[in-house]
This record gives sequence, C-alpha cells and structure tokens, in this order.
Amino acid sequence: SDVRISPLLEDIVDSLKPAAADSQVFVHIDCQPLCVRANPQQMKELLSNLVGNAVKYNHPGGQVWVNIREQDENIVIRVRDNGVGIPQESLDRIFERFYRVDKGRSRKQGGTGLGLSIVKHIVNFYHGSIRVTSELEKGTEFTVMIPVKWEEL
Ligand code: ATP
Ligand code: MG
Repeated sequence: SDVRISPLLEDIVDSLKPAAADSQVFVHIDCQPLCVRANPQQMKELLSNLVGNAVKYNHPGGQVWVNIREQDENIVIRVRDNGVGIPQESLDRIFERFYRVDKGRSRKQGGTGLGLSIVKHIVNFYHGSIRVTSELEKGTEFTVMIPVKWEEL
C-alpha cells in the first residue's frame, strides 16, 4: 500500500509532544511531500523509534532534525540530534536486541532495548541500509536508505 510520509511524520512528532515538552526538546521537520510504496505500520515503527530515541537521549533544550527526501530510487531518512551521543565501542551493538548503552544511564528513561533491532529488521525487509555516526555529548545521526517506489505529491 501507499504511505504519505509527511502527515505520518507529523502524527509521530505530535505523539512525542508530551515527552519532548517534558524535556524541552524541539523537533524540526524537513520532509518532501512524498508518497511511498511501503507498509504504513512499518514506516510508522521505523520513524517513531528513531525520532523517539533522538528525543529520549537528549538534554533539556536539545534539538532533533528530521529530514526525509527522495534520492534516485531511494527514500533517505535522516534523524539527527544534539543529545548525549553513543560511545564508539557501542555503535556496533545498538542494533542488537536488548542492548542498551550504560544500563544505569538508560534505566531511568525506561525502554527495553528493542527499538533499534526492530528498525534494523524493517530496513532489512526492504533491502535498505542504515548508518549511524555519533560523538559523545555532541549528538547522533542515523541515516536510512530504503529502495522503494515513491511519488511526489
Ligand atoms: P526501546 O526502544 O525498546 O524503548 P531503547 O531506546 O533503550 O528501548 P533502542 O531504541 O534499541 O532501545 O536503543 C538502544 C540503545 O542505543 C539505547 O538504550 C541508547 O543507549 C542508545 N541510543 C539509541 N538512540 C540513541 C540516540 N539518538 N542518542 C543516544 N543514544 C541512543
Ligand atoms: Mg528506543
């Protein structure tokens, strides 16, 4: 089926509003008006996990930038934050089920450590790719590329 990405993203950011307001994190959206041939539930899961993490692992007054656009035969999703960052030695492991950086740090935020393993699973389902770069106390950027049919709205 088809998914309109922009309203979906707005819904997700709306549902994160309470969490974002609590921690005073601001989410910027920059999204091309695209319709994508993909499963809506999967797209929702993918985006809400990445944006949810960027809000959750952030500081008061922190920011999140979400950029979605087409590029050749792909849609490219970028989620960047200026939050707590991920240590280099953990970058390989964050996609494992139940893996969480620094149990102490993340315990108070709640969560199971499943979010990114689900994201990875969805990306693999579409034969896409996911990359992450991060610097401690500077922030994190996830880039997802998914080869799906899309149409400009
Ligand atoms: P869940 O998503 O199941 O609620 P979770 O957020 O802990 O729990 P994942 O989304 O899989 O699990 O993330 C795994 C770990 O990677 C997190 O516990 C956190 O330590 C780290 N992490 C993920 N995204 C970010 C981010 N944007 N900034 C800093 N750390 C992150
Ligand atoms: Mg998560």
